[in-house]
Amino acid sequence: MSMSRRRFLTAAAAGSALVVLATQQATLPPRRARWFLFGTLVDVELIEPAGHDATPVLALLAERLQRLHVDWHAWKPGRLGDLNRALASGLPYVAEPSLLALVRDAQSLSQRCGGLFNPAIGGLIGLWGFHRDEMLAGSIPSRDAIERLLDADVTPDALTFDGDTVRSRNPAVQLDLGAYAKGYALDLAQTLLHDHGFADAVVNAGGDLVASGRGPGRPWHIGIRHPSGRGTLALIETAGREAVVTSGNYERYRVLDGRRYAHILDPRTGWPAEAVASATVVCADAALADAASTAISVAGEQWPDVAVAFGIDQAMVVTADGRVQFTRAMYERVDPVNLRARAVSVIA
Ligand code: ADP
Ligand code: MG
Repeated sequence: MSMSRRRFLTAAAAGSALVVLATQQATLPPRRARWFLFGTLVDVELIEPAGHDATPVLALLAERLQRLHVDWHAWKPGRLGDLNRALASGLPYVAEPSLLALVRDAQSLSQRCGGLFNPAIGGLIGLWGFHRDEMLAGSIPSRDAIERLLDADVTPDALTFDGDTVRSRNPAVQLDLGAYAKGYALDLAQTLLHDHGFADAVVNAGGDLVASGRGPGRPWHIGIRHPSGRGTLALIETAGREAVVTSGNYERYRVLDGRRYAHILDPRTGWPAEAVASATVVCADAALADAASTAISVAGEQWPDVAVAFGIDQAMVVTADGRVQFTRAMYERVDPVNLRARAVSVIA
């Protein structure tokens, strides 16, 4: 029986790009928790082994994620804000270990894709008005202002590290970890659950998720939603620990001068990247998947080169004009629920 014909009991996380589904074959229902963090709903589903109550670990996880949400926020007061102020004034900043690791990794991931994922473009992202909870209508930034920021040549290469101290050689560098921190937090969440004896879990932050182990009586099934928000394009069963992360320009965008401008920017031009509607990456590491899915969204038709640069063999792209493109390894594992009528190709 194909997965698409099975009957599903629940569809969690409404509004997300991906949905975790549990079937009627379930033995015991999974334990669930839900919080609003990182600008999205975070859903946890886990299997409690006999005699193992997940209540304490869920409380600990909620507290840790809340802390990271505050520490890594791009535009609200917190540690990242303090770091950005120091970078702008050329002062050294002593970073707490998890922020330091996050920034160092972001620098090296940016280097791997030639800066298509560029966490140093916080100034540009702010200029486009994406540093707000609500996406207000308005006017597009002036070409001069965009050019000035591009001329400042902001890349994370300007960051230097000395022990736990960070500084920037370029005062225009402003870190925005929005394309990456959520993935990083998902990895930390899964590790915490695993270390407390919960080996079968899905942590889902608005459609970006890490699954580990198995669901109730069978593997976890993950649905990849169509970028339009209507329907599921494909389903996959995860095995072991796997991250499934989607970057999309369909959920967060502003209407400026009557047109839609999406929140993923092309650091080469300073303008929103428009060729890709959504990019889904599957790999072991959610932080890598998050940075890679953003870089793939920026790359457009050249996206297979970016996947190779990140060592990723499973990716799926929906182009702005509705074509669905797969890497071979991704195509071979998905159940194509809703691909029949679409222009599908295996291109990498
Ligand atoms: P989603 O929010 O759909 O998961 P992403 O993971 O791609 O999407 O993150 C998009 C966010 O990353 C933007 O809101 C912005 O804060 C930041 N960003 C936008 N463009 C880039 C880029 N080229 N490199 C790094 N960060 C970016
Ligand atoms: Mg991302």
